[in-house]
Amino acid sequence: PGRLQDRVAVVTGAASGIGLATVRRFAAEGAQVVCVDIDAEAGRRAAEEVDGSFVAADVADEAAVRALFDGVVERYGRVDVAFNNAGISPPDDDSILETGLDAWERVLRVNTTSVYLCCKYVIPHMRRQGRGSIINTASFVALMGAATSQIAYTASKGGVLALTRELGVQFAREGIRVNALCPGPVATPLLRELFAADPERAARRLVHVPMGRFGEPSEIAAAVAFLASDDASFMTAAQFVVDGGITGA
Ligand code: NAD
Repeated sequence: PGRLQDRVAVVTGAASGIGLATVRRFAAEGAQVVCVDIDAEAGRRAAEEVDGSFVAADVADEAAVRALFDGVVERYGRVDVAFNNAGISPPDDDSILETGLDAWERVLRVNTTSVYLCCKYVIPHMRRQGRGSIINTASFVALMGAATSQIAYTASKGGVLALTRELGVQFAREGIRVNALCPGPVATPLLRELFAADPERAARRLVHVPMGRFGEPSEIAAAVAFLASDDASFMTAAQFVVDGGITGA
C-alpha cells in the first residue's frame, strides 16, 4: 500500500500544473482524491483520470469553500489532506507604481484569502478526527527580495507563509500539521503564460537557478506527497523549499 492509502485528499487548483501533478501523485500513493477547480471542464478530466471526484468551486468564495469541505466529509466521512494550491500570477501585476488597487486586491483574494478560507473550513473536521495535514502553496518569491517585480503576488505568498506558521503552531497539539510549500519556478501553464508575455523575464530568472532549469510539476508533487504523508510526522509550521537552489544561492 502507498503512503496515502485510503486517505481522503482535497487538491485545489487541481486542473493544471502543480495541482494536476499532485492529483496524479496522491492517487498513485493510494489516496482518494477530491479535485477542486474553477475550471470545471479540465477539473472534471483530472478527477476522471484518477477515479476521484470533482467539485467546481472558486476558492475565494466563502460559501463555496464551506460547502466544499462539508460536502467532502458528508461523502467520504473524513478529510485527511488539504492541499491549498489554487493561485494566480497575473502578468499585469508588476511594480508597485503600476499595480492598481483592484489588481492588488484580486491577487490577495485568490492567493491568500483563499488559504485562510480553506484552513478555516477544513480545520474543524480535522480537529474532530484528531489528525490532518494541510499544505499551503506559497513560493520562493516570498523568501527573497530580488526574485520578481510582481509586488502583489509576492506579498500574497508572504501572507501564506505567515498564516501557515501561525496555524501550524496553534494546532500542533491537536494532530493537525500545517506546512507551506515554496516551489521555485516550475514549467507550468501559469509560468509559461507569464514568460510568453515577457521572455526576458524568463531568461533573467533562469540565471538565478543554480540547477539551470525550471522544475517539473512532478518534482513539486513529490514534495507535497511527503508533506501529506506520515513520513513528515514531525513537520509543522515549516516552509518546505523545492526550488533548484535559488534561495540557497
Ligand atoms: P496553473 O495556472 O497551472 O494552475 C492553477 C490552477 O488553479 C488552474 O487550474 C486554475 O483554474 C485554478 N484556479 C485559479 N484561480 C482559482 C480559484 N479562484 N478557485 C479555484 N481554482 C482556481 O498554476 P501552477 O503553476 O500550477 O500554480 C499552482 C500554485 O503554485 C499557485 O499557487 C502558484 O502561485 C504556485 N507557484 C507556482 C510556481 C510556478 O513556477 N508555476 C512557482 C511557485 C509557486
